[in-house]
Amino acid sequence: MHCNICGNQRNPGKRPGFYLICRPCYNRKYRLENADKIKEYRLKTVARKIEIDKLYRENNKAKRRANKAKRKAQKLRATPKWANQVKISIIYEAARKLEQAFGVQYQVDHIIPLVSPFVSGLHCEANLRIVTREVNCAKSNLYWPDMQENLTLKDFEIAE
Ligand SMILES: [Zn+2]
Repeated sequence: MHCNICGNQRNPGKRPGFYLICRPCYNRKYRLENADKIKEYRLKTVARKIEIDKLYRENNKAKRRANKAKRKAQKLRATPKWANQVKISIIYEAARKLEQAFGVQYQVDHIIPLVSPFVSGLHCEANLRIVTREVNCAKSNLYWPDMQENLTLKDFEIAE
């Protein structure tokens, strides 16, 4: 059994006259005859991918905004009336300047975490320090400088 196009023998066990064209030749022929259809399909696929990516970005943007808003609300709740907003601004500004000077990301860290199962730090100048992003990310909200060793959630339960 020979392919009508390339003449190579294919599927010798098949019924004679059944496979007139071999699979590779058929594929090549199909691609040539349907170039427009294939192109249109590819364009559609690309368009769909762009649409999906766009949606993903928008969703993520919304998520980032929501997180930012949540953090802001937490800061507001943790800000005492006596907090010095000018000093706080200076600390944030200093972090920005360090970033520019050294080309490393600096963040303002709450020494005692704002949100933690154990403690609630304040958003005030005395509880702020500037650290590199690396240090800040390595820190968890379960540790602070003068914490007792081996605290568990139980330590904070009110006795009956
Ligand atoms: Zn062939």
